[in-house]
Amino acid sequence: MAFLGGRGCFDGARARRYPRVTVTSPPVVRFAPSPTGYLHVGGAHSALANWMFARRHGGRFLLRIEDTDTERNRPDLLDGVLDMLRWLGLDWDGEPVHQSDRVGDHRAAADALLASGDAYWCDCSPEQVQARAKERGGPPGYDGHCRDRGLAEGAGPLRFRVPPGTTAWTDLVRGEVSFDNATIEDFVLLRSNGTPMFLLANAVDDAAMGVTHVIRGEDHVNGTPKYLLILRALGRTEPTAFAHMPLLVNESRKKLSKRRDDVSVASYRDEGFLPEAMVNYLSLLGWGPPDGVEVRPIAEIVDLYDLADVNPSPAFFDRKKLLHVNGEWIRGLALDDFLARARPFLPGDDAAAALAALGPLVQERVRLLSEVADMVDFLWMDEPPVDDAAWDKVMVRGKAAPEMLDASTAELTALEGWTADGISAAVERAAITAGFTKPDGSPQMAKAPAPVRVATTGRSVGPPLWESLAALGRDRTLARLAAARVRLAG
Ligand code: GLU
Ligand code: ZN
Repeated sequence: MAFLGGRGCFDGARARRYPRVTVTSPPVVRFAPSPTGYLHVGGAHSALANWMFARRHGGRFLLRIEDTDTERNRPDLLDGVLDMLRWLGLDWDGEPVHQSDRVGDHRAAADALLASGDAYWCDCSPEQVQARAKERGGPPGYDGHCRDRGLAEGAGPLRFRVPPGTTAWTDLVRGEVSFDNATIEDFVLLRSNGTPMFLLANAVDDAAMGVTHVIRGEDHVNGTPKYLLILRALGRTEPTAFAHMPLLVNESRKKLSKRRDDVSVASYRDEGFLPEAMVNYLSLLGWGPPDGVEVRPIAEIVDLYDLADVNPSPAFFDRKKLLHVNGEWIRGLALDDFLARARPFLPGDDAAAALAALGPLVQERVRLLSEVADMVDFLWMDEPPVDDAAWDKVMVRGKAAPEMLDASTAELTALEGWTADGISAAVERAAITAGFTKPDGSPQMAKAPAPVRVATTGRSVGPPLWESLAALGRDRTLARLAAARVRLAG
């Protein structure tokens, strides 16, 4: 398959900055979506990296539903997230874990932190915290006011007592990352109502599930020192590694947003992107294969993909390149498979039969399954829609349209048999009659067929014209040429 250049694509030949990721025992990774929305491409990017890592190293890819934020939680959205993971082919191992089922464990962890002195109750209101920060003139945030007040439960939130020092880890994507603990406020573990905060539940669950590698989006980097502090204070085993995947950005280098950009994986499916193309393209965000062959099955990518090669800088989600990758994948499908996949994008059996008549010719020309219907509507509709811009350009402002329609009508009426080759020769003769000739007298076929195409298909682009007319049949072809001639005269 063709090599794809393109912006946002990472040069696979670049020297690796970190040693190849080595894994000595089967890793455990997880994708941990919060069902507060649909699956977006950034989430799919992280999920894919986890899945590939597990499959490459013979490990387990777990799913944890982070559903403890009851205010923003939408249980109905979970099915959509799972459907999209299935659609992408990211099969997970075992049953998904629901974080809400594990609140007892989160509370027990909070109790242990309280008992060891690593956590304390606080009764400061947000206004008080803010007012003191203002007075201090320092950075906003909590100042540890209640650290030694010995408050009892019930007064307010439970906070983590951040120790002095630094908290660091070696990130598989980012290298050494280190935080001065002085920049980390005593963060909240339990809300005033006793419910666990994301940071506590997230870290405690990873430890309980035996997660060895945390692979997630860059937006979680700032939470990672807190995650490590919690597990270290609990004496629990930490993951052996973290990989914070690059942020996905749009063409203005801005973080993809639900408002501005098309981010839902479902919307790509509905547009007619193939799941194979989607995971193929997602794998190329921040990464490139060492041999430069970008369009290839995910099974091959699994063997080549190494987190140490992932570029930490933001990756451009390039729709044009995605379209290109999709077109390559569509062309690579077996014809039957192509027809079957296009079927849901067609309005009915007539359209499906029309597509079958032109199958490979359409398959070569579309980049999206949703483009298929427009390519074949002229075949099954009695009166296919006429593209106004095409009509204006070719019929009204173009050269010798009436002459070309008349000459083609005469040649095609007289044509013996009705094959693509015969039609092609007939239209060539018509071109000469209508004055589309080169200096040597041969027909000038770059522009001559355009009026015939617009008259018969309603558009100026589509599958090859001779085959299209062969499939359309003589009667309908002649009727449409006549109708166009009338419209042109009128
Ligand atoms: N529920 C978190 C999110 O959707 C997951 C964070 C993580 O992967 O650790 O962002
Ligand atoms: Zn306080």
